[in-house]
Amino acid sequence: MLKAYKYRLYPTGSQKEILLKHIGACRFTYNWALEQKIKAYETDKKHLSRFELQSCLVHELKPENTWLKEVNSQALLNTLINLESAFTRFFREKKGFPRFKSRKVPFQSFQIPQHYVVDFENNTIKLPKIKQPIRAKLHRKFEGKLKTATVSITKTRKFYISVLVDDGKELPETQKFDNNSTLGIDVGVTHFATLSSGKKIDNPKHLKNSIKRLKVLQKRLSKKQKGSQNCDKAKLKVAKLHERIRNQRIDFLHNTSSKLVSENQAIAVESLDVSGMLKSHCLAQSISDVSWSEFFRQLEYKAQWYGKTLLKIGQFEPSSKLCNICGHYNGEMTLADRKWECPDCSTKHDRDINAAINVKKFALQNQNLLNI
Ligand SMILES: [Zn+2]
Repeated sequence: MLKAYKYRLYPTGSQKEILLKHIGACRFTYNWALEQKIKAYETDKKHLSRFELQSCLVHELKPENTWLKEVNSQALLNTLINLESAFTRFFREKKGFPRFKSRKVPFQSFQIPQHYVVDFENNTIKLPKIKQPIRAKLHRKFEGKLKTATVSITKTRKFYISVLVDDGKELPETQKFDNNSTLGIDVGVTHFATLSSGKKIDNPKHLKNSIKRLKVLQKRLSKKQKGSQNCDKAKLKVAKLHERIRNQRIDFLHNTSSKLVSENQAIAVESLDVSGMLKSHCLAQSISDVSWSEFFRQLEYKAQWYGKTLLKIGQFEPSSKLCNICGHYNGEMTLADRKWECPDCSTKHDRDINAAINVKKFALQNQNLLNI
């Protein structure tokens, strides 16, 4: 089983410099490779393979850009693997055409496939091409085979490393589930999630407060003169709060997903079209959009870890407009209707609970498990 462990790194000044050089070099190599691929296709209709690119990297790009030699060569080669998977996603799954990497993206990172050492005794991590081990806060221990490590830097210039570890254990067998041991979840605008059991889960209060505060800070930032010292200060404040919100949100999502997976044999959700959602402009909304996709991702891998099942239903099944008792379709319902009474069977519905029950129903119907 693969598990990721994320730690904060505390590099010295010169270590920071070389880490940033790695990030820059990997971005440079990735963009160079993407450009080569586009050019080769435009001029000769030729698809450059990863191995052709690798050979160009070693024999042309590196000799012309000697600074790349200061960087772990496997990290550079790894960018070619990432580019290859970006193209695979583009061709196979019709995801967007691979884009050039910008230095302006808030989350910058690079990967080290092997030859690094995690030292729990001394609380350090030794990376290739960096002489002294980097101080780290190794708050969780692991045992197993080290896979790829990802080093990242946040906008407020904090360094992290995420270590992927294979513990050598097989995934547990999937446990049986039925109507009683399955939970339906509806995610919505008014509550973070509503459960088919009738329970509603809200974003925790401290997270809501931080989001409110973020709005205030962003408004202040917008009034500052661009390029001024005050503007930079305000920017840093916004970035810091963004990070705090991110951490609070991840904590909340982990607690919630762990609890739900441990309490149920199967969980049913609606699959979300995240690419469409990320276009939404309202801040609070976009934060919950990101939360949901991360939440579903966590549910999926935690379900695998514990032998549980995540069931997904199509996005356009009319889960909130259908009476879960008699099947009456209420076409006149609008987004504003939080409660409704079924004209056929007179059941009084809470919109979100009804939707969560339907998500569960549809998912079990797909499995032919509804009448068990
Ligand atoms: Zn009804």
